[in-house]
Amino acid sequence: MRIVLLGPPGAGKGTQAMEIVKKFGIPHISTGEILREQVASGSALGLKVKATLDAGELVSDEVIMEVIEERLKRPDCAKGYLLDGVPRTVRQAEILAGILEKTDTELTAVVQISVPEQVLMERIRHRGLTSGSNRSDDTAAVAANRLQVYWAQTAPVATYYRDRGSLKEVDGVGTVQEVSERIFKAVGR
Ligand code: AMP
Repeated sequence: MRIVLLGPPGAGKGTQAMEIVKKFGIPHISTGEILREQVASGSALGLKVKATLDAGELVSDEVIMEVIEERLKRPDCAKGYLLDGVPRTVRQAEILAGILEKTDTELTAVVQISVPEQVLMERIRHRGLTSGSNRSDDTAAVAANRLQVYWAQTAPVATYYRDRGSLKEVDGVGTVQEVSERIFKAVGR
């Protein structure tokens, strides 16, 4: 089970990622999580990417894919993995294809969680107002920017996979369980 999870900020990607890794017993690889850990630990990488994260902009493709290539080499990925938040650009998708080719593996499915823009804006506004978030990029203004970055740079990734016949689109409006059932069906389980 090698799954890529795509979807705009506010689509419930993080929540669904937890459902997927629980069901399939695969590691959850979130580049956002990895980067936030680096920032928190004050590593060289963390210092380098902090401002980019805080602004809701994208970290460079080279940096991201180096992190991913290393992560996919770890033994826990032998049984599969869930990629959450990556690839975020067509270039990253191309680099990922190269990494997979090197190891003679293929993605099982690319799942796109689709949610109408109106609903996303409402969810984002709600999240921005909700206290308790430990994400420094969780303000309404940064969230709106992240959505803009998504449409410009990440939405084409869905097209990339659609053109290659591996995209499964799932309706992201509904309860957590409804949406996760749709995802399990889409990946054929
Ligand atoms: P996320 O938790 O996936 O929303 O990611 C949080 C932030 O980390 C993003 O707003 C970007 O600044 C950065 N980031 C995470 N994944 C990527 C990626 N694949 N490419 C570029 N930047 C990323």
